Amino acid sequence: MLFDRASPLAIRHAAIASLAPWLLRFAWQSLPRQAARNAAAIAGLLAGAGPMWRELAGHIGASALLREKGAIYLYDTDKAAQAGARDMAQRRDLGVRVEMISTAELHRLEPGLCNVNGQAAIFPDAIFMTDPGRMVCALAKAAGVPILSHRVTRLALCGGAMMLEGAGLSLLARKVVIAAGAHSRALAAQIGDRIPLDTERGYHVEWDMESPRLGRPVCPVSRGFYLCPMEGRLRAAGTVELGGLTHPPSKARVELLVAGARAIFPDLPAPDRDWMGFRPSMPDSLPVIGQSPNCAGVIHAFGHGHIGMTLAPVTARMVCDIVGGRSLAGACAPTRPGRF
Ligand SMILES: Cc1cc2nc3c(=O)[nH]c(=O)nc-3n(C[C@H](O)[C@H](O)[C@H](O)COP(=O)(O)OP(=O)(O)OC[C@H]3O[C@@H](n4cnc5c(N)ncnc54)[C@H](O)[C@@H]3O)c2cc1C
Repeated sequence: MLFDRASPLAIRHAAIASLAPWLLRFAWQSLPRQAARNAAAIAGLLAGAGPMWRELAGHIGASALLREKGAIYLYDTDKAAQAGARDMAQRRDLGVRVEMISTAELHRLEPGLCNVNGQAAIFPDAIFMTDPGRMVCALAKAAGVPILSHRVTRLALCGGAMMLEGAGLSLLARKVVIAAGAHSRALAAQIGDRIPLDTERGYHVEWDMESPRLGRPVCPVSRGFYLCPMEGRLRAAGTVELGGLTHPPSKARVELLVAGARAIFPDLPAPDRDWMGFRPSMPDSLPVIGQSPNCAGVIHAFGHGHIGMTLAPVTARMVCDIVGGRSLAGACAPTRPGRF
């Protein structure tokens, strides 16, 4: 994939040296035994995510933002379908419900894909959020606590408490949860926790339209992105670019998504907007959730990679249990901060 400019995976050459330690750990974690162990741990975390999102969205009056029609994977060649069948078998072993479907069934479920041939798979239990931004706003509104908006630049132990400082901010806290996504590594390092967190930069492009052509998310697997029917727009989102936090977005990655979407809907005009985000990624694809090994008052909650939105309520529940002293996210927990 790395030698193909049109592949869904890219590494910025200038970043290879700084990425080397992460890449070596990632390669180690990709060996069969480690990958199987990590997949089982991820499946364990994900098992509660759907029901918890349903409950949370219901609680804050945002159930209308969840759509329960599953998600579809598309395979454009027989070779891709065969690889997909192996992938599906592994997922079934982990308790995921997935079914291969014929082209005719695909066209019945998604009439907008009537020009697409090949095999497909459906994950009937997948839940889709039609507008994550609106969901986050609804959550913030329902939280019922003051929200201060500041950038924390300094975090230090001060007596028995933690001192947080930044421009216009000086706050003493008994407990601190570091949940700053890909920026968490630098904050954790300030209390001596060296965590091999990096970022997988991801992109999306959007076309405004009243009816976004699909009923559920559809992933053309070989291209590594999803076409998602958002509220009032069609979104193409995904792909991975390893390249750090400071480099500006790559136009070529945006164009790749546009080309991928046009391979399915050739009449799409120029997109209305694009975006790049920083997935906070660990070499073993597992988040870091647990008490800091160095500082009892600090709880880490970051590193969710591709599934941070999905795992938000699961993470929140784990953090609540740790803060409330009901769990220490034990020394053996797969998400423990000191595992590397
Ligand atoms: C293209 C793309 C598609 C994705 N699709 C999905 C998907 O379909 N499903 C899914 O589950 N996940 C998806 N993800 C992944 C998901 O977005 C992340 O896993 C998730 O956002 C991580 O959540 P977080 O709260 O840890 O970090 P973030 O969402 O990055 O939030 C971190 C917050 O911390 C703040 N912050 C950072 N530094 C500081 C500081 N020093 N002081 C104070 N605040 C600070 C930031 O401003 C930000 O608000 C996708 C990501 C991308 C890029």
